[in-house]
Amino acid sequence: MSALRLDGKVAIITGAAGGIGEATARLFVGNGAYVVVADVQDELGDQVVASIGPERCSYKHCDVTDEKQVEETVAYTLEKYGTLDIVYSNAGILGSLTGILDLDMKSLEKTIDVNVCGGLAMIKHAGRAMVARNIRGSIICTVSAGATRAGLGPVGYTASKHALLGVVRSASFELGMYGIRVNAVSPFGVGTPMTCVIPGITRFRLDPEFIEEQMSSVSNLKNMHLKAKDIAETALFLASEESSCITGHNLVVDGGFPDSSSTFPVSVPRYTV
Ligand code: NAD
Repeated sequence: MSALRLDGKVAIITGAAGGIGEATARLFVGNGAYVVVADVQDELGDQVVASIGPERCSYKHCDVTDEKQVEETVAYTLEKYGTLDIVYSNAGILGSLTGILDLDMKSLEKTIDVNVCGGLAMIKHAGRAMVARNIRGSIICTVSAGATRAGLGPVGYTASKHALLGVVRSASFELGMYGIRVNAVSPFGVGTPMTCVIPGITRFRLDPEFIEEQMSSVSNLKNMHLKAKDIAETALFLASEESSCITGHNLVVDGGFPDSSSTFPVSVPRYTV
């Protein structure tokens, strides 16, 4: 057996121009896969491909909120690499930081569009391609530790990730009959552009180490340094044959953050009357 856990496999990773997606693209290629880096940040996407190596990796512009672009990304992958074994639907946004009393419905729509509809479109078109070619593939979505509890993110984001977990479970139920697995990886806080750059305040950046310390301080597992690489390792497990009997699962990577009693020290936005 090859030491490379994804030897010769072909994968699409959305949201791979940075953060968790980029770390996963590196790890998948390092494990023998061919990877299509799909994102809306073309310049960053090209840089990621150049640094990983264009022999095993290519960039495709794909806005996951546009179903046609999702379909085209699947078609591009099949055309370029001949098959599609793994899809890591990872693109996501934090969306508006407001609380429910200030919720802007338009901004909520955008969050749902990217985080839920984007994942649905990706599973739909990847699933179609796999079923048509009799590929027993693996589909993984980045959900969130906030998909099963409150208070880990803004209300719109929390709602979208709860819904996405439903999509994963439902798709695993439907696609199981074709031998296609669908699982979720749910990170706790990781220092990436999503968590370190505060929307609207471009000059202000949080230090990834600060995020790591915050996570470690509220988790059961002390001195944990949760990084994008740790989420990538989890996605690698779910993509590989090692998890061949696992589907419909939500693998939470949170250092054992207690389920109920504790709250994360994020303040709830105050509504001013
Ligand atoms: P990130 O901002 O670094 O990466 C997100 C990527 O998604 C970006 O490259 C962005 O360009 C891309 N993207 C956004 N909208 C898109 C669209 N419409 N079409 C295609 N690509 C789009 O953040 P990250 O932390 O690496 O986030 C990756 C995933 O992990 C997201 O789904 C996020 O919700 C989830 N997540 C992150 C954390 C965390 O603490 N960082 C925690 C839980 C879940």
